Amino acid sequence: MPELPEVETVRRAIAPALEGRRLEHVEISDMRLTRPEDPLVVAAELTGERVEHVDRRGKYLIVRFASGRALLIHLRMTGNLLRDPAGSSHLRALLRLDDGTEVGYRDVRRFGTWLLLEPGELEPYLGERLGEEPLVAAFTAKGLGERLERRRAPLKAALLDQRTLAGLGNIYVDEALWHARLHPLRPAGSLDRDELRRLHRAIRKALELGIARQGSTLSTYRLPDGSSGSMQKEFKAYGRTDEPCDRCGTLLAKTRVGGRGTWYCPTLPSC
Ligand SMILES: [Zn+2]
Repeated sequence: MPELPEVETVRRAIAPALEGRRLEHVEISDMRLTRPEDPLVVAAELTGERVEHVDRRGKYLIVRFASGRALLIHLRMTGNLLRDPAGSSHLRALLRLDDGTEVGYRDVRRFGTWLLLEPGELEPYLGERLGEEPLVAAFTAKGLGERLERRRAPLKAALLDQRTLAGLGNIYVDEALWHARLHPLRPAGSLDRDELRRLHRAIRKALELGIARQGSTLSTYRLPDGSSGSMQKEFKAYGRTDEPCDRCGTLLAKTRVGGRGTWYCPTLPSC
């Protein structure tokens, strides 16, 4: 599933095509994409809107219109935005812009969602669902500690919770915990100040590296021009069962936390 670095990569690549453009023609061919709203109604509402800015919050893409409305796109498992999508399979929506270019939405497994929000609806909608953005200056180790304090859930589960922090998923939590030298099953509220500082730094490091490598392509994630990310070549923990830890050489172990495959160095905390 695309996480913050993948969604941010898509945002950066698609924003120049969309910003300032008017949606001349909109087709939405999948009822699941907009449900419970009728896709024909949503397409008609979008037609004529002018894109002011393409933003991201957590794993959501936000297409902000000059009218004050916003289209909130969640790629879920296999959603992609494509420039010049002619000939692509699994296209669920198509935007034709006023300069003649097209942006397509492709989704093999069809878990992605498009939600059109009226002016004033966006902030409360996201505020209920998402914690802080981990890459903004206001995100501090102290703030992270406040989010985690008194929580008995495993650290990994607490970090997957989007209300703790926005944008982390299975890959980047495992990577961040490896960099921080913290065990995924530690109770979230048990970290001391030094450990919180390490975790804060490690979360940013893992996400920034993911963005620098344009995300991880494991199956269907692609950039809007069809190319792949390369972060998967630099994983320190995620998916590396029985491979040696880059720090201590011990073979990495796999467990499950909250039903999610989780990779870590078994020598922690001494790794
Ligand atoms: Zn190790």
